[in-house]
Amino acid sequence: MTFEQVKKMEQENIMPTYGRFQVALEKGKGAAAYDCAGKKYIDFGSGIGVNSLGYCDDGWVKAVTEQAAKLQHISNLYYNPVQTELAEKLCRASGYSKVFFGNSGAEANECAIKLARKYSADKYSEERSEIVTLQNSFHGRTVTTLAATGQDAFHQYFLPLTSGFAYADAHSIESVKNAITDKTCAVMLEFIQGEGGVVPLDVEFVKQVRALCNEKDILLIADEVQTGVGRTGAFYCWQNYGVKPDLITSAKGLGGGLPIGACLCSEKLGAVMGSGMHGSTFGGNPVVCAGAIEVVDRVSDPAFLSEVREKGEFLRGELLSMPNVADVRGMGMMLGVALEHGSAKDAAAECVENGLLILTAKTVLRLLPPLTITYDEMKEGLAVLKKVLEGMK
Ligand SMILES: *Cc1c(COP(=O)(O)O)cnc(C)c1O
Repeated sequence: MTFEQVKKMEQENIMPTYGRFQVALEKGKGAAAYDCAGKKYIDFGSGIGVNSLGYCDDGWVKAVTEQAAKLQHISNLYYNPVQTELAEKLCRASGYSKVFFGNSGAEANECAIKLARKYSADKYSEERSEIVTLQNSFHGRTVTTLAATGQDAFHQYFLPLTSGFAYADAHSIESVKNAITDKTCAVMLEFIQGEGGVVPLDVEFVKQVRALCNEKDILLIADEVQTGVGRTGAFYCWQNYGVKPDLITSAKGLGGGLPIGACLCSEKLGAVMGSGMHGSTFGGNPVVCAGAIEVVDRVSDPAFLSEVREKGEFLRGELLSMPNVADVRGMGMMLGVALEHGSAKDAAAECVENGLLILTAKTVLRLLPPLTITYDEMKEGLAVLKKVLEGMK
């Protein structure tokens, strides 16, 4: 099919919920993708941080295809050795005690929200069910995770949302204090607000939130759907902050390209969710878990993580030396580039025309390259970006 054919068929058959770049991708290897006409693109987006090992990594393909040929799915009515192996590796690598597997970031957050409410209902009362989230956050598209999302634009048209959420200023501990009441059971945050424009929270702020939560026995939930699995140079971003949440959620990069979500909890929360209280037909699917095992094995290696940090610093340095760059934010290989003038959306569209896939978030250009990207691939992509930014002068 040609691009025009794909575009026409999509318009005829798919709900128009996505603003797509004008390209149809057909195959990929490493950090390079190819469109229907065979044109090559360097990928600085990795499917929004999903393809953590790049396109069609040999080890990942082997793990997934071998599992697909052996056993593609079993119900959670039965013990699942692949799911169990992933759980053990993920708990060990993340520093958490127990995990629940779903299929997406939003679902992982739903699990964390349910668990926090149950913990508080068991220990205090069902009235203690409110969750404080931060303005400019993003937690997903389900009706409850939309309610958790502190951006009015996402709420439009879909009211009433799940009740019991309050929003605080992400840069003011006073605001968090004011949002907390005797009905609050949890505070939920992203260490780096990804969709919100790659905005890292202040370390001091996060420490103060942790202390406040400890004082009141309020659970701290970190949505690590975007920041997790090596993205920021630590296996999970809480390790960069030195602040350990009671619950973390993970998704995007965890499966290396297959749908998975995970909610991880600390020791004291391990028995909160009992039999029959939560579930997912597809959650912990063997093929998906086989891919995730490969990702966790590779990414949790300290040498791999140190390379992520080095590549991140390389990218940051190169970006800061480019024309029209006002600021570079983020950690590891999760970077946001604020421009001096011109729109990030236009710049991204022009990059795509010139063979570089790059993302935006709010007003910034956003880079989430595959963690395995090579220096040659980075240089090739940066050259395209530089040319585009020069043209905007
Ligand atoms: C992408 C994202 C989600 C939603 O994940 P889905 O897999 O699309 O449901 C939730 N939280 C954060 C921080 C995200 O970046």
